[in-house]
Amino acid sequence: MNRLSNNIAGRRRFYNALALLVPKYDLLEVNKLEKQIPPVLVQALKKHKYHLVGKHSAVKRCKWLYEALVNNRACYKQKFYGIRSHQCIQMTPSLFYCTQQCLFCWRAQNTDLKIAWDEMNLPSWDPPESVIRGSLEAQQRILSGYKDHPKVDWRKLREASTPKHVAISLTGEPTLYEHIGELIHEFHKRKFTTFLVSNGTLPARLSTLSEEPTQLYISLCAPNKQVFQQVCRPQAHGSWENLGETLGLLGSFRCPSVVRMTLVRGLNMDNVDEYSRLVERAQPTYIEAKAYMHIGFSNLRLSFERMPEHKEIYNFAVRLAEQTGYKVLDEAPESRVVLLSRLQKPVRFSS
Ligand code: SF4
Ligand code: SF4
Repeated sequence: MNRLSNNIAGRRRFYNALALLVPKYDLLEVNKLEKQIPPVLVQALKKHKYHLVGKHSAVKRCKWLYEALVNNRACYKQKFYGIRSHQCIQMTPSLFYCTQQCLFCWRAQNTDLKIAWDEMNLPSWDPPESVIRGSLEAQQRILSGYKDHPKVDWRKLREASTPKHVAISLTGEPTLYEHIGELIHEFHKRKFTTFLVSNGTLPARLSTLSEEPTQLYISLCAPNKQVFQQVCRPQAHGSWENLGETLGLLGSFRCPSVVRMTLVRGLNMDNVDEYSRLVERAQPTYIEAKAYMHIGFSNLRLSFERMPEHKEIYNFAVRLAEQTGYKVLDEAPESRVVLLSRLQKPVRFSS
């Protein structure tokens, strides 16, 4: 046996041993879920490669984890902010629950696939420690699937087994999870950097967050209430006003903040002047203008033609820059996203 095959055999043994350390975990622990969650929904999520964690959390492999491990490519957040795609966990603590039903959302929503449940009927929440433990285990299960991949980068796969960044963003509204501040704290205790992505409809939760994330994202996907009602489809009264309140709170955060705009052709790409007034109110560190992607369950609600080209996003960003005084700092055409800021360059995190 030559040195190369010795190495490969050694690495396989390492990952087989690692797999044994990860407790067997039944992805369909339906009996642990709240009664109102239909088992057929759990099946559909499983088919879409969601790894359920406890009663209401989940981890899903990000496309960019695969790209980083197999094709030496990185997501735009690595390019912009320096987090490392292969050491990132994409998770949510509120898989089934959200205050909105955005048309462009990739998550399964109530009545998608004709499956009905109440997204605002919140569960009894799992403690943050068990959410984190289950998320780490799920990530190791995901990684164990790469040990036989012929093109995997072994150095990166080894590094990936020690994740250092978590995107609390996968689906649902994470600030519905009442322990969100403690969850962030527990991740930080484990030396993770955290990106929290919220739709901003719960300003009271954000203003009393016991620990700030490393970077806070607020989605702003409508220039006014009318478009908001049509595109973001809030499930509670006063959501637009609550979002406005959250935008007003952003300046009180010490961490960098991002106003994220998911743009859908023909639906929410006009009224740049109204967007710019909202940006003026929020004064975020960054704006990310990003194209809607025709993926996941959004395919049931929007057609492929709704997905803007990168040049449409870039043109939108330039118009926004003209109106806000922000500068276009960077772009990632493969993800159809443009970064704007008043900084000369983004703050980079060494995760
Ligand atoms: S930061 Fe986002 S896009 Fe990048 S690897 Fe993590 S989940 Fe994927
Ligand atoms: S707020 Fe986020 S999770 Fe909720 S429906 Fe909209 S995109 Fe999906």
